[in-house]
Amino acid sequence: MKISLEEMAQKISVANSFIITVHVNPDGDALGSALGLKFILEGMGKEAKVVIDDKWDKNFSILSGIESVINLQENPEEKFKADYVILLDASIDRCGKVIENCPDMKVLNIDHHVSNDDKADFLYLDADAPATAEIIYRLAKVLKVEFNTEIAVNLYTGMATDTGFFRYSNTKPYTMIAAAEMMEAGAKPNKISEALEVKSYETIKGLAAAMQTIEISENGKVAGVYLPYEIVKDLDTTEGFIDQVRIIEGVDVAVLMKEKEPNLCRVSMRSKETNVSAIAQSLGGGGHIRAAGATIELPLDEAKKKLLEVINEALV
Ligand code: 5GP
Ligand code: MN
Repeated sequence: MKISLEEMAQKISVANSFIITVHVNPDGDALGSALGLKFILEGMGKEAKVVIDDKWDKNFSILSGIESVINLQENPEEKFKADYVILLDASIDRCGKVIENCPDMKVLNIDHHVSNDDKADFLYLDADAPATAEIIYRLAKVLKVEFNTEIAVNLYTGMATDTGFFRYSNTKPYTMIAAAEMMEAGAKPNKISEALEVKSYETIKGLAAAMQTIEISENGKVAGVYLPYEIVKDLDTTEGFIDQVRIIEGVDVAVLMKEKEPNLCRVSMRSKETNVSAIAQSLGGGGHIRAAGATIELPLDEAKKKLLEVINEALV
């Protein structure tokens, strides 16, 4: 059921303890929003634990409080008890088993994905917000919380990562005002971007191998790297790879396809014009108009063929 941000703030302010969770394969916005909210709640004298059913990239060690995050995969049977589960940056279907492991708890969901399925008990959705972290910033204002460095580092990271460091079309004047306030509260943009961008020598070699697979199709409007399992198994991360594809002149839709297991491919898409959220949703995934993803349970060649068919129909 959809509610306003003020109603969400009201529910939070009268409760005492929270489990905060986010989507699997957590990105900067998911982790930054979760940890930012944890410090906001703790500042209000409440208890909050972040639990994620996945591991996260070591580049996120810059985030204050990251060492306190519980990876449910390390102890899958662990059950949690609190007044509410707060699910950020995703719908219920993308958070693995965390909600199952929080028996009898109501779910408060805060999200900015246009594809949110509205299945949580209470949902505040703002599909125009560039990042969930920007919504958490607004929530903190409604809750009249003062920002400190811990909150600032996390919310800045969430806003920065989901806007491509304030370059994508989702960036609003308000986003920059919020980010400036996070800087005033102690976030250091240069330190944060250096920490997030650093890559191992092996990863850069992996990037070179990945770029060898690049293919242009649909008259130059689609460019993709399609990585077979033999390449994927040796990569630590593919974070940022798609950014090399999306900058090719004339390309509207950029694709990164990874065969994570034989017969299981993960797809990421970025676009300048075409609605890739609709494409992802037609494949059982979701996301935003200009950044979306899905999982296709087929071998690489077949998944690629299927994806290109759907993209071809959707191209504007
Ligand atoms: P990325 O390509 O960075 O993994 O994801 C781009 C955007 O699409 C992110 O906002 C992410 O949350 C969303 N997204 C990626 N994969 C999926 C998916 O399988 N399902 C849904 N619902 N959203 C996805
Ligand atoms: Mn996000």
